[in-house]
Amino acid sequence: MEKMNDLRDLLHHEVLDLTSAEEQIIAALPKMIEKATNAGLKKALKNHLTVTQAQRKRLEKVHQLLHKGKTPKEEKGGLLAKLFGGENHKCKGTQGIIEEGEKIMKEEMNPEVMDAAIIASAQKIEHYEICGYGTARAFAEELGLREVADLLYQTLNEEYEADDILTEMAVNRLNKEAEIAGKKATGKGNENAGKEKGSKQVGGKTTAKAATSKNTALQNAVSKTPAAKTKAAGKTATTNGGKRAPAKKSR
Ligand code: FE
Ligand code: ZN
Ligand code: FE
Repeated sequence: MEKMNDLRDLLHHEVLDLTSAEEQIIAALPKMIEKATNAGLKKALKNHLTVTQAQRKRLEKVHQLLHKGKTPKEEKGGLLAKLFGGENHKCKGTQGIIEEGEKIMKEEMNPEVMDAAIIASAQKIEHYEICGYGTARAFAEELGLREVADLLYQTLNEEYEADDILTEMAVNRLNKEAEIAGKKATGKGNENAGKEKGSKQVGGKTTAKAATSKNTALQNAVSKTPAAKTKAAGKTATTNGGKRAPAKKSR
């Protein structure tokens, strides 16, 4: 029984961590939206801000459910409260990712590169959340907390969706880059056009093709990550954090 009490405390801690993460993301997204140039990226980030606000509310419900019946040991000065500050916990992981992103966003750079930096930062945040929600959900399942598990699962799917959209944008950006490079090459019709991209062959086709294979590699890297992680690390609760949920809707 002691083990289950401890796991419940750990889940409570993860929920506080995610609550802090969502709050920091709500505060950080407007700046990212403002800095983004690409209309699609702006729209996706705006949309995720709305989704994130709902996720924050959903976590409140989860927190209430965890307090129902039993006060987590953590609040009575347990180990996790001592380590992380209990109810006042601030997620340092998210703080670090956001701070790094903000540092880059302060730099002067080409708008397209800025968009790439914003996508990269946003994906780091999503991956942190995917890990946190996946883990918390697995703990809730182990504890037999059906309603809590379902709520966490719902958010987990939304985070996967956000990550997929960002991946698509990163890939489209590379495709566009290839297209521009291709047009340049065709327009000039000389050897230099090919050399610009480090290719020995002349013409747009080669450049575009090279970029496409790069895109495929990126897609593979991203899509393979969750499955590979799960497979490599076995079936412990924590590794379920990297496991993609099979269906979009929670039961
Ligand atoms: Fe979130
Ligand atoms: Zn609490
Ligand atoms: Fe998110």
